[in-house]
Amino acid sequence: LLMLGIETSCDDTAAAVVRGDGEILSQAISSQSDLLVKWGGVAPKMAEEAHALAIDQVVQKALDDANVSESDLSAVAVTIGPGLSLCLRVGVHKARKIAKVFGLPIVGVHHMEAHALVSRLVNKDLNYPFLALLISGGHNLLVLAQNLGEYVQLGTTIDDAIGEAYDKAARWLGLDIRKGGGPALEELALEGDPNSINFTVPLRQHKDCNFSYAGLKTQVRLTIESRNLCTDDIPISSATEEDRQLRANIAASFQRIAVLHLEDRCQRAVEWALKMKPSIKNFVVSGGVASNQYVRTRLNHIAEKNGLQLVSPPPSLCTDNGVMIAWTGIEHFVAGRFEDPPPADEPDDMQYDLRPRWPLGEEYSEGRSVSR
Ligand code: ATP
Ligand code: FE
Repeated sequence: LLMLGIETSCDDTAAAVVRGDGEILSQAISSQSDLLVKWGGVAPKMAEEAHALAIDQVVQKALDDANVSESDLSAVAVTIGPGLSLCLRVGVHKARKIAKVFGLPIVGVHHMEAHALVSRLVNKDLNYPFLALLISGGHNLLVLAQNLGEYVQLGTTIDDAIGEAYDKAARWLGLDIRKGGGPALEELALEGDPNSINFTVPLRQHKDCNFSYAGLKTQVRLTIESRNLCTDDIPISSATEEDRQLRANIAASFQRIAVLHLEDRCQRAVEWALKMKPSIKNFVVSGGVASNQYVRTRLNHIAEKNGLQLVSPPPSLCTDNGVMIAWTGIEHFVAGRFEDPPPADEPDDMQYDLRPRWPLGEEYSEGRSVSR
């Protein structure tokens, strides 16, 4: 079984070829980091153009590096949501074109499910049910994975995701964000005192598993504005020694509280999940922010404290990639969940089934029973 996976939901154009047994034959990616630096975020129209420019090359590279051609493939998997419609469309168009010409089945993939399931490629002993924390630029999800395609959402963000907070804080601290705001802030935080600034931990009064990062973001902004030294129009490379230390202190303090909020909610989610499914053995942490070493260490502690094994993919599989799409495609394909090849006369300008907003499973409310 050979699966091509295509991902264009946000700012990375990615493709990969993965074999049925989980062997990664190739992975190709083209990032829009220059656009992100310039526009301060993902501008849908620009992102769409960048995907359209990159997609053919990225897919070709994935096929070449895997040393296969389209006719060797068993099927094509592609992200159909959640994400920006304009961007999703580029990937779906490409996937359907290949599938049409070579008569291949298609698997429409949920981007966040793929962030979770790539852990099963990495760790073959990861069985259902498991608890997963998915932390990225646009999502902050706690889910109980009961089975393939069966998720109960224990918590989500009521405003921003943690990755968004890292990205904004990094920008406001004047960091070099060409390789991403998260990694830049993580690096600077190593130089700072995490206890120097008292940010408030979000939602401590709310005894649920939801998240909030908008307030913490504002606290960082206000702290930066209240200190005369530190301003975002002076890049950190030209900051004085004293200014650099202050920025590092803000970064470290922000990171400590941002992650403490994750720890709070995960501890509660573990308790909820074990009550529903006492057989849970694993705690999966994935999505771009899961590539952060401090995050991994702190959450490993939560897992161990509760007798669970932390499973977190290597950083390159935590951030957006084609492998996770191909692998999730394989899981669904093997379970018989796929679409027939598109008809030969499918028009190029057709309305595809895109799902820009697509919840991952049902929301959990206390008192509601979950099948054991
Ligand atoms: P979503 O998955 O919600 O659709 P996305 O696909 O844009 O969003 P990912 O690629 O999964 O997000 O993750 C990107 C996010 O991860 C960015 O916000 C980035 O700053 C963050 N990130 C990446 N590396 C780190 C790190 N080392 N520390 C903190 N955050 C990080
Ligand atoms: Fe993502």
